[in-house]
Amino acid sequence: MLGAFDSFGRIDRRQRDALPVGDALARLRAVTDRGGVTVLPFGNGRSYGDSCHNDMGLLIPMRSPSADMSLDPESGILDASAGVTLEDIIAVAAPQGLFLPVTPGTRHVTLGGAIANDVHGKNHHLRGTFGCHITSFELLRSDGESLYCSVTSNPGLFAATIGGMGLTGIITRARLQLMRVPSLDIDEQIVPFGDLDDYFDRAEEADRANEYAVAWVDQLASGRSAGRGVLITGNHASNGNREVETRASRLAVPFDLPFSMLNRASLTAFNAAYFAAKSRNTGVHRTGYGSFFYPLDGVGHWNRLYGPRGLFQHQSVIPFETARRTIPLLLQASRDAAHASFLTVLKRFGDVTSPGMLSFPKPGYTLTMDFPNRGAPTLALLETLDRLTIEAGGRVNPYKDQRMSAATFQAGFPNWAELETWRDPGFLSNFWRRTALSSPHS
Ligand SMILES: Cc1cc2nc3c(=O)[nH]c(=O)nc-3n(C[C@H](O)[C@H](O)[C@H](O)COP(=O)(O)OP(=O)(O)OC[C@H]3O[C@@H](n4cnc5c(N)ncnc54)[C@H](O)[C@@H]3O)c2cc1C
Repeated sequence: MLGAFDSFGRIDRRQRDALPVGDALARLRAVTDRGGVTVLPFGNGRSYGDSCHNDMGLLIPMRSPSADMSLDPESGILDASAGVTLEDIIAVAAPQGLFLPVTPGTRHVTLGGAIANDVHGKNHHLRGTFGCHITSFELLRSDGESLYCSVTSNPGLFAATIGGMGLTGIITRARLQLMRVPSLDIDEQIVPFGDLDDYFDRAEEADRANEYAVAWVDQLASGRSAGRGVLITGNHASNGNREVETRASRLAVPFDLPFSMLNRASLTAFNAAYFAAKSRNTGVHRTGYGSFFYPLDGVGHWNRLYGPRGLFQHQSVIPFETARRTIPLLLQASRDAAHASFLTVLKRFGDVTSPGMLSFPKPGYTLTMDFPNRGAPTLALLETLDRLTIEAGGRVNPYKDQRMSAATFQAGFPNWAELETWRDPGFLSNFWRRTALSSPHS
């Protein structure tokens, strides 16, 4: 069957060949035996680049009905099909006073996709990655065998699959330990900072004192305002509500725009207005979980704002020792290249170790920038950002990436070859072909 199966960056849009999940589960061995065909599970396409694509093989779309889960309210353990979304999970968990222990900035990702990318959230300093809360899962391999994996059963495959980007097999079901919370509402506090030193001086204490902490940076501000932004912290409110928010986006970009709305002029104005508005809104105030965790989910198809050529997201993590020097360099390089980032987010990762072999987070600061694709100049900028990141001892996020070189990937993840030993030979992705199976100097 042919389908769109775009990833979120929408850089490489085309019809892709897929195998319905029912067929895949029933005859995976027959499919992958057939002339060396490879497959790759596809969650909800919220990865930005090509780690969820397999253009020389077949995709297996994993979305499944939300009803396919059960929750033990006493232990807080959820048992679900890998194709349910985080939104589906919240709907079941919230009335029981339970919430996701780790959530990315969108609820439209599948349970399997969250495990396979070992996603992180605004509380990495306390709870580590999503994989830290997975107690077990079933993994279907291309030889047709289904393996129960946990820290004690098949521990090698457990570690390789968490953050393994779909390369070790199909996660069919998983068990997730949810987090007990007093309510879903968040008591949020916003503190403006004048420059990056100001941010770095506050970030560690903000992590110590709060469940959630993240910063927005005005990437376009220069001169005396360079590095200004707002530090946003939050905690679950003790007397808030447990109601699940309605599903529909309040706004939507209804069709593909013929050009990018997000250019330097519009973003300079947007950033200045955002900074001014947030700076006026200091002090603790109550907000719903949707606007705190998932503000962009409120605008359907917002990635269409980037126009037909799509967007690149660049996420780096820079170790503590080099971050104060390197983060300003990354922002400066983007300004020098006359590129404007719509969303520039800075976050401190803690030292909670992930069970994943190739998980992205490591102790340090992570900087995320989104750029409209302007072709060669954008690619040149991204290479500069890669170089600065690697020189600082950091790494670039693979599941946000569409184009990093094999050298950049392998330098950031020196243990990448370990995952290759656990990869199911019947599974492959565009990303892995490009970065792991090709020479670092090609
Ligand atoms: C607005 C927005 C905000 C985001 N914020 C964050 C954030 O804060 N933190 C963060 O870490 N990420 C963030 N992301 C990225 C997103 O959370 C991850 O890319 C997520 O893993 C995507 O899940 P998906 O279900 O869409 O999977 P896909 O993108 O479709 O696939 C992701 C990977 O999972 C594999 N996979 C999918 N299902 C299975 C399965 N059943 N078995 C085995 N492998 C499988 C795929 O092969 C692929 O390699 C954000 C993305 C967006 C669009």
